[in-house]
Amino acid sequence: SLSDRLQATMKKIRGRGKVSEADVKQMTREIRLALLEADVNFKVVKSFVKRVQDRAVGQEVLKSLTPGQQVIKVVQEELTELMGGEQTKLNLALKPPTVLLFVGLQGAGKTTSAAKLANYIRKAHNKKPLMIAADIYRPAAIKQLQTLGGQLNIPVFSLGDQVNPVEIVRQGMEQAKSEHHDLVLIDTAGRLHIDEGLMDELEQIKAVSNPDEVFLVVDAMTGQDAVNVATAFNERLDLTGVIMTKLDGDTRGGAALSIRSVTGTPIKFVGMGEKMDALEPFHPDRMASRILGMGDVLSLIEKAQANIDEEKARDMQQKLLSVSFTLDDFLDQIGQIRNMGPLEDLLAMMPGANKFKGMKNMQIDEKKIGQTEAIIRSMTAQEKTEPDMINASRKKRIALGSGTSVADVNRLLKQFKDMKKMMKQFMGKTKGKKRNPFNL
Ligand code: GDP
Ligand code: MG
Repeated sequence: SLSDRLQATMKKIRGRGKVSEADVKQMTREIRLALLEADVNFKVVKSFVKRVQDRAVGQEVLKSLTPGQQVIKVVQEELTELMGGEQTKLNLALKPPTVLLFVGLQGAGKTTSAAKLANYIRKAHNKKPLMIAADIYRPAAIKQLQTLGGQLNIPVFSLGDQVNPVEIVRQGMEQAKSEHHDLVLIDTAGRLHIDEGLMDELEQIKAVSNPDEVFLVVDAMTGQDAVNVATAFNERLDLTGVIMTKLDGDTRGGAALSIRSVTGTPIKFVGMGEKMDALEPFHPDRMASRILGMGDVLSLIEKAQANIDEEKARDMQQKLLSVSFTLDDFLDQIGQIRNMGPLEDLLAMMPGANKFKGMKNMQIDEKKIGQTEAIIRSMTAQEKTEPDMINASRKKRIALGSGTSVADVNRLLKQFKDMKKMMKQFMGKTKGKKRNPFNL
């Protein structure tokens, strides 16, 4: 996949202390191929690669002899830009109701996404939604929306399939107002291809509903074609956002990267599965990190910065690099990490987390933290700085003192060793100042 290929490319450059112009050329050549194979628009690829090359070869990296990681950062930032930079927020009406219109080809996921989003916004913004069934053409389309509405306990306005969709929407809007719904979601019909008759109908629906968002729903698996579809819909309906569905599937991912720069329309939400809760707001930066296999780096930084004392973190890093990281520091670290929320979540967000999944010792069981603290506190100062000196009889003494077993002590020592190794890996082989505790 695109992600695999980019990750392989990044891996080559990641640990570099120096990056030559030839290295950058080689890397951008590989990136270019990976993007083209993922069906990213040719023009988009061309300008993307050029920007990366300019920045990576330019002063930013070479003059300061910054290591490979900085090059990766350039790629990550440019990928983020490509997908729109900042996260684009949902446009809520100042004067209710907020009206969301869903358009797109048949099978793209309009009906599913309308229901998912109704559910999402109801929770996130405490709204009272009404869904309007305006697809009278696809057999059972109305039934489908009603079934989803039933599951979620969200009402559906329908006039059957014998009334003109524009009229259905007009009456649905009236009902929404009279029943004080502050959120209206309009599910429309799709076709297999762009079709004039449908476009006319959608224009009229737009006119009678005056939507705050016109969402184009596109299937991520359709690649380049999704971009053409977006262009066509945008010309007629002035789209305000894209909902990209089926990103959970085996997609080449190219559409997510080109759609914004080709159409100027931001992706606002992504569908990650068939279930009703499988919808997420789209974060370009997080997506870029995911594609590059950097884990959900930004969420991690947010958490880390909110919770870790920067000075202390830097100090700790120095210690790790100089191999003077002791069990006392470990204890301290545990305390800080504990403030950051469930450890499993944190580990999952760390770059290369997949690699650590199988390594049981990496997973610090929260319930065992208390025990861990007790064990470390039962050690002498010397044992804490030189854990290698802890022999069998010392282990027995520590276990007794902490109310644990020798097996527990062994496990902790192993964990400490692994953690040291893991942290070192994260820190990279680079020296010098780091801006944040995770060196990203
Ligand atoms: P519509 O014709 O545009 O209204 O499309 P539907 O909402 O009926 O969806 C078509 C099919 O795609 C259905 O089987 C959905 O369950 C499925 N689908 C929609 N969104 C997603 C998604 O994000 N992931 C997956 N895996 N399937 C989806
Ligand atoms: Mg539908």
